[in-house]
This record gives sequence, C-alpha cells and structure tokens, in this order.
Amino acid sequence: MTPTFRVGLRALLSGDLLKDKVAIVTGAGRGIGEGIARKLAQDGAIVICADVNETDATAVASSLRPAGIGVRLDVSNASECDAVVKDAHDRYGRLDILVNNAGINRDAMLHKMSDDQWHQVIAVDLTGVFFMTRAASRIMRTAGSGRIVNISSASWMGNIGQANYAAAKAGVVGLSRTAAKELARSQVTVNALCPGFIDTTMTRGIPDAIREQQLAKIPLGRAGQPADVAAVVAFLASDEAGYITGEVINVGGGYIL
Ligand code: NAP
Repeated sequence: MTPTFRVGLRALLSGDLLKDKVAIVTGAGRGIGEGIARKLAQDGAIVICADVNETDATAVASSLRPAGIGVRLDVSNASECDAVVKDAHDRYGRLDILVNNAGINRDAMLHKMSDDQWHQVIAVDLTGVFFMTRAASRIMRTAGSGRIVNISSASWMGNIGQANYAAAKAGVVGLSRTAAKELARSQVTVNALCPGFIDTTMTRGIPDAIREQQLAKIPLGRAGQPADVAAVVAFLASDEAGYITGEVINVGGGYIL
C-alpha cells in the first residue's frame, strides 16, 4: 500500500477526510444541498450553509456536527455572493471548498416558455455559479489550493420541457471546464456533477406518469438520494482528489446509459 493511499484510507475511516477545511454550500437549506452539507460536516469540514431561505439554512447549519453557519444568499445577486465569500474568508482565514448547488427549474415547452421562466433559471442556475466561482477563485488563486464542485444535471444534454434548465446546466459544464483550465496553475480543481433523478422537492412535484417514466430509465432501479450525490462531492472536495479536474461526472444510477 502506498503512503498516500494509506493516509487517505485512514482519513476515510476516521471521518477526517475534510478535517479543518472550510466549505460553502449553496442551496444547503434542503434536498441535495442539505445532504452535501451534512456529508462535508461528517467528514470534518466547517460548513457555511447558504440558501435564499435563511430559516432553512440556519436550521441545517445548527444541526451539523461540527456546527456550521447558516446565511441568507441569493446566488443570482453578485454583491451577496461576494459578501458571503468574503465573510467566510474573514471569519476563518481560509476557504477550501465551494459547492455550487443552488438551482431552480421552471419547466415549459419551448414554444410556451415565458421570458421570465427563461431568465429566472439562467440567473440562478448559471449566473449564480459564475458569481460564486468568480468570488471564490480570487481567494483560492492566492491560496494556491481549492476545490470547486458544480452541480449540473443529466438534463444538460437536452430534455423536453427544460430548454432554460438544460441551457443553464450545459453552461455550467462549459464554465466548470474553463475554470478548471484557468485555475489549474493555482492547484484549484473544478469539476461538474450531473445528478440523474434524485428524490427531492424538485422532483416530487413531477406528475406521477412522468416520474414513472423517469424511474424506468434508471438501470440501478431506484431514484437517487441526496447522500448518493454528497458522497461524490465529499471525495472531489478532499485532498485525495487533487489530480481530478475539469471532469463531468454522472451520478444517476446509469440514467444516461
Ligand atoms: P431543491 O430541493 O429544490 O433545493 C434547492 C435549494 O436551493 C432550496 O433550498 C432553495 O431554496 C435553494 N435556492 C433556490 N434558489 C436559490 C437562490 N437564488 N440562491 C440560493 N439558494 C437558492 O432542489 P434539489 O433537487 O436539491 O437540487 C439541488 C441542485 O441539484 C440543483 O442545482 C438542481 O438543478 C440539481 N439537480 C437536481 C436533480 C434532482 O433530481 N433533484 C437532478 C439533477 C440536478 P427555497 O427553499 O427557497 O426554494
């Protein structure tokens, strides 16, 4: 066993994989973001739970061990993004991990999609990732280290009724790969995760017939859980994943096969 592998295995077993790391998770008030916040804390990170719903963010943060911090953040607002990143850095003197998870959907067939439906989804799901990545990259470049994990979606490859969402999530892939190239010289890694069908509020609103169709497309035979996504995020956020960057990783039970 190589020394690196042995250290990594010990950290995995002891829950210390992310010990003393400082992480921001957007959209951490519920769903996948909450699952990611819980997993990062379980692995030893101090987690800033940022969500447009401050009550949810605070509730999740205070239930973490080690306890995190809940903050209100609308990722579509550049100055709020800058302030949350600055506050984290001022408070802890470092920012190791950024998970861009906040997202919304406003589904409609293309010919019926309103301007608002288009703009809202692009503002949160794409521009929000840009604002947060830009703010964090300034700190991580100077530090010479960092991990950015962006939550895209299997829909980035195209999905009926989701022109806005697919465009935003495809944009996240392009943004992630570009950021990976730009930040590699500073040892900052950037990867995109593409969940398939995960059991959260976002998917619980889908009509039963469509839900059954989606579930039937999953070779592993079940909807994903936030913990399925969180496990991959935690690994990508760790020191062990330092040689993985610019990847687009599906977490969908074989959904795209
Ligand atoms: P969710 O259950 O709807 O949770 C999303 C969270 O983000 C909510 O707490 C929401 O707050 C928050 N949020 C919404 N707009 C925000 C903003 N402008 N700024 C900050 N926070 C905001 O969704 P989810 O299923 O966990 O999805 C999380 C991410 O995974 C999204 O990027 C989504 O596109 C992606 N994804 C999900 C699936 C899936 O099957 N669920 C599949 C692929 C990708 P409110 O409570 O106020 O709404």
